[in-house]
Amino acid sequence: MPRAPVIAYIGLGSNLQDPVRQLRIARQAIIALSGVREIAFSSLYRSAPMGPAEQPDYINAVMAAETSLSPHGLLKSLQAIERSHGRVRTGLRWGPRTLDLDILLYGEERIADEQLTVPHAGMTEREFVLYPLAEIAPSGLEIPGRGILNDLVAACPRRGLEVIDHV
Ligand code: ATP
Ligand code: MG
Ligand code: MG
Repeated sequence: MPRAPVIAYIGLGSNLQDPVRQLRIARQAIIALSGVREIAFSSLYRSAPMGPAEQPDYINAVMAAETSLSPHGLLKSLQAIERSHGRVRTGLRWGPRTLDLDILLYGEERIADEQLTVPHAGMTEREFVLYPLAEIAPSGLEIPGRGILNDLVAACPRRGLEVIDHV
């Protein structure tokens, strides 16, 4: 049965092989998915790596998309895009990667199974998620089970996060 479309927020990140280009191509690939329509795309941000420090800075952004895909259908499609960008899973948690696509929010749903945790588990403590999200989402947006976006942003240090100019 077709689903009513929901608004999902997708976090994009890369720190290898021309990250700005990785994000640009990923954005196009997400837009090209059937059942996904872009609503908004944030600025690009540069952030310091989380976890292993000996790796390049990250470029991050957030997309708001209307989708008729199921949460797991969307995850599968995003993982296929990650693989097409040559992402190799090294086993090193939070290690360098050509592309990371995470489902931050899927409507107001709360999901917790082996494949998927929504809202994304780390999102409410991550400056490189909260600031770009706040740029494109309503400030009163409720992150199910976690609070109001504005409050979460106010409680989150920027850790040097900056918007980058790009062409
Ligand atoms: P983090 O999830 O802390 O940002 P990561 O993005 O580097 O770390 P990945 O290696 O990309 O982690 O993904 C590991 C697993 O996380 C995936 O196999 C996927 O099934 C699972 N996962 C759980 N919740 C989500 C989500 N909301 N979005 C994307 N993947 C998720
Ligand atoms: Mg991630
Ligand atoms: Mg991921």
